[in-house]
Amino acid sequence: MRIASLGSGSKGNATLIDDGETCIIIDLGFTLKETVRRLARLGKSPEDIDAILVTHEHADHIQGVSVFGRKYKTPVYLTPGTHNPERMGAVPDLNYINCHRNFSVGSLGVEPVPVPHDAREPCQYVVSSNGFKVGVLTDLGHITPFVEQQYHRCDALLLECNHDMQMLDNGPYPWQLKKRVGGLHGHLNNEQAAQLLLKIDLSKLQHLIISHISEKNNSIELALEAMNSALDPLVAFNGNLVVARQDEGFGWLEVK
Ligand SMILES: [Zn+2]
Ligand SMILES: [Zn+2]
Repeated sequence: MRIASLGSGSKGNATLIDDGETCIIIDLGFTLKETVRRLARLGKSPEDIDAILVTHEHADHIQGVSVFGRKYKTPVYLTPGTHNPERMGAVPDLNYINCHRNFSVGSLGVEPVPVPHDAREPCQYVVSSNGFKVGVLTDLGHITPFVEQQYHRCDALLLECNHDMQMLDNGPYPWQLKKRVGGLHGHLNNEQAAQLLLKIDLSKLQHLIISHISEKNNSIELALEAMNSALDPLVAFNGNLVVARQDEGFGWLEVK
């Protein structure tokens, strides 16, 4: 089983999960042209994608969903609340999910995880195959007990480190936007992400990917520092610490 990204951040997100039999994209926040170009970097063509799973309706997650879904007849999975036909456009193969119930896409098992974020019915996803488990967790304002419960023993975890609290406070955003981003239904800051690592079982973790890093209110250095200080006392983690970038995402990381 392996994971890669076409890009991560407020200008567009798309995460690929592939077990050799089924390949899905979680969110698609890039134009069709850009998506095809970025897929090629990972050795994939649009026809290789078996489904698109959507986490919520913000533009950086849905921009490319309907155009791609129409052109390649790709099934799209999302909560009824996330589906806004006026914003998203028509999708021929549309599948509503119950975000409190597990489902499968081909050979992949999918556990949706509802999260606190300022969207209509947002959820994140934990994907399993052949005893391996890959967690994707971005776009949430705080860690709920249920989130904590669902992300134990991941083999790979893509985790939001959106902002540094001090940089957000002193940064260029207007006050209302600072309140939104830093609020209970906004985005995880470095410290909150680090706190989660102290609470979940990391004994199987091979790849920790920090993602959705704000270009204005965070730096890769600060995010890495926060992760390293949380991981330091945890002898259990001797895996890979990876950064998901806005332009490049990251290349295939295999769990085995
Ligand atoms: Zn986002
Ligand atoms: Zn969002």
